[in-house]
Amino acid sequence: MRVRVPFGKRQMVGVLLEIASHTEVPASRLKRAHRVLDDTPLIPADMLALARWAADYYHHPIGEVIQALLPVSLRQGKTVVSQTDSVWRLTPAGAQTHATEFKRAPKQLALRQLLAQHPEGLDAATLEVHYQHWATPLNRLVKRGWVAKIRRPPEHAGTQVPDVQVALNTAQALAAGKIRAALGSFQAFLLNGVTGSGKTEVYLQVIAETLLRGRQALVLVPEIGLTPQLLERFRARIGTVAVFHSGLSDGERLAAWLAARDGRVPVVVGTRSAVFVPLKNPGMIVVDEEHDTSFKQQEGFRYSARDIAVVRAQRQSIPIVLGSATPSLESLHNVNQLRYAHLELPERAGNARHPLLRLLDIRSRPLDEGLSDLLLDAMRRHLGTNGQVLLFLNRRGYAPTSMCHACGQTLQCPRCDARLTLHRNHRLQCHHCGAERALPVRCGTCGGTDFGHFGQGTERIERALERLFPDTGIARMDRDSTRRKGSLENLLHAVRSGAYRILVGTQMLAKGHDFPQVTLVGILDADQGLFGVDFRASERMAQLIVQVAGRSGRAERPGEVLIQTYHPDHPLLTHLVREGYASFAALALNERRVAGLPPCAAMALLRAEATAANPPRVFLEAAKSALAPHCGRQVQLLGPAPAPMERRAGRYRAQLLLLASQRALLQQALATALPALAVLKEARRVRWSLDVDPAETY
Ligand code: ADP
Ligand code: ZN
Repeated sequence: MRVRVPFGKRQMVGVLLEIASHTEVPASRLKRAHRVLDDTPLIPADMLALARWAADYYHHPIGEVIQALLPVSLRQGKTVVSQTDSVWRLTPAGAQTHATEFKRAPKQLALRQLLAQHPEGLDAATLEVHYQHWATPLNRLVKRGWVAKIRRPPEHAGTQVPDVQVALNTAQALAAGKIRAALGSFQAFLLNGVTGSGKTEVYLQVIAETLLRGRQALVLVPEIGLTPQLLERFRARIGTVAVFHSGLSDGERLAAWLAARDGRVPVVVGTRSAVFVPLKNPGMIVVDEEHDTSFKQQEGFRYSARDIAVVRAQRQSIPIVLGSATPSLESLHNVNQLRYAHLELPERAGNARHPLLRLLDIRSRPLDEGLSDLLLDAMRRHLGTNGQVLLFLNRRGYAPTSMCHACGQTLQCPRCDARLTLHRNHRLQCHHCGAERALPVRCGTCGGTDFGHFGQGTERIERALERLFPDTGIARMDRDSTRRKGSLENLLHAVRSGAYRILVGTQMLAKGHDFPQVTLVGILDADQGLFGVDFRASERMAQLIVQVAGRSGRAERPGEVLIQTYHPDHPLLTHLVREGYASFAALALNERRVAGLPPCAAMALLRAEATAANPPRVFLEAAKSALAPHCGRQVQLLGPAPAPMERRAGRYRAQLLLLASQRALLQQALATALPALAVLKEARRVRWSLDVDPAETY
């Protein structure tokens, strides 16, 4: 329950976790709370227990963990009005109305249609989930005698979902059967199937079964995967779905949260933070695209929603399905350790065939702005037979390096150890801190006026394509071209309609969108992933390649995927191309085992930053000395070392890496040593944080 308490001169909202009968604090120093804000506990016991577990595991203050659990308006102390007593229903007259009677009232019509789908009636909180401004049109409908407010009928035991006849193929049926058999108990499944193999269809059918048993389902999707198409598909098949993501208004978030907690909505679909949405009758959890990095929060409370979801499922005794075409090595490791059951969907549903992957050896080939003659020939061939072409380059902007031609000085971000990226609008941008400025007229070092721009970003490729394919519609899809609201939808629509025949883009291309007419995919720079700073660079690159490849060849025409590289004999690439992702992953996992890196070891990263270079290192040295006695030989302390990009946004960063063969040993060392770190005098001069299971080590 929340309480309003005095805090210095201010008042704050606190959460009452326990009631103690004894304290060391003298009574004269205790203050009285102003008010208890809730009549009954706000957070169900199971979620509170999960929050405690997460606070322990991530060594993060419980208060901030609870913050992550509560919608903003509850954190601010808003009272929860329980509106569950009455519902609105269509009257018989309302049920007989026709669309023509709503000509100038589209909102009333939408409400009428929604109520028609819910003969049991809908309450205010549920309406709020669907529409932000439902009150006015609803009152009009009441005035017209088409809707009536009645007392809520008793809760019913199960939700019948519309019967849709999709006959599962053998692999799907096997997978769905195993998950269904696990309903009512904990079991983790890795549903491993290429894009288009019918994973979503399996989720839908198992969720339908969950609802039929009167239980709720929680579906977590990556940030960019929460598309209107996905929601439409869920709504068409399952009915009411509460959506939970950061783009909602505070009111909508609260309504969705309450509806889920009170069991008024059968399915919650949401991004990372939805892992903390309470459910009255939890039945199962799905994590779609479980390899996606957006499930990991990268600042503050650095949790992994995927990992917490597994723990949640275990504690609530329900099954969890982790789905992906390119599973994380973490999940594959868990399969090898027999912690997760492996369900494979080897075939694409329907008739679509797998795309064919091939490496293009671009050593000593002529390149035009990074496009090899081999790739350009293939593009002409596909465009000539009415195909669409998709080019992937994970670098936005025009050119990543600009250099003074007279003195060789590169243009650097003044606040980061990084070069500025030139954009097509002639402005220089830092992709690390967001700083932006005009391209200078003169070099700051020598006064030269001639700058060379090296390397390619998507904007430069777009320009090259406009020159090479002057009569072909070309579109670019990256953060810059899709910034305005609605622009991504417009772009996707135009690509699907065939208005554009070539699409060049960044990793946005890899996420969830279908391009059914694409027959050729070109990966312009696979080598980025082979020699990245992070030990996961190759895993991420392989996932991106396979995900981008999966966008093509859905229809009868199989797709072709060409990967430009200077390292055509690199074992990771050749495994990926010749034998597929599973074989790549086995090889990569073995490399991790040999190197003693996650998922074959447990890792934590202690980070520190300050406006000067020294304090972070000094703090981490002190931290290392404090940690060392608790680490023994089992927990390695590596560093401290400057972060690969030491200075970012004007702050110097350093890190200390903790590695252990066993998670429990690492956890124990952290638990005993961390309290001592907080009170180190060196800690006062830095901002520091601990990242357990870091997704990025730079
Ligand atoms: P994934 O989630 O693995 O990408 P989907 O579930 O979206 O795959 O399925 C891809 C396409 O194949 C969708 O259009 C879906 O409707 C269709 N599909 C899935 N399963 C079947 C099936 N058993 N029979 C026919 N079509 C199917
Ligand atoms: Zn910068």
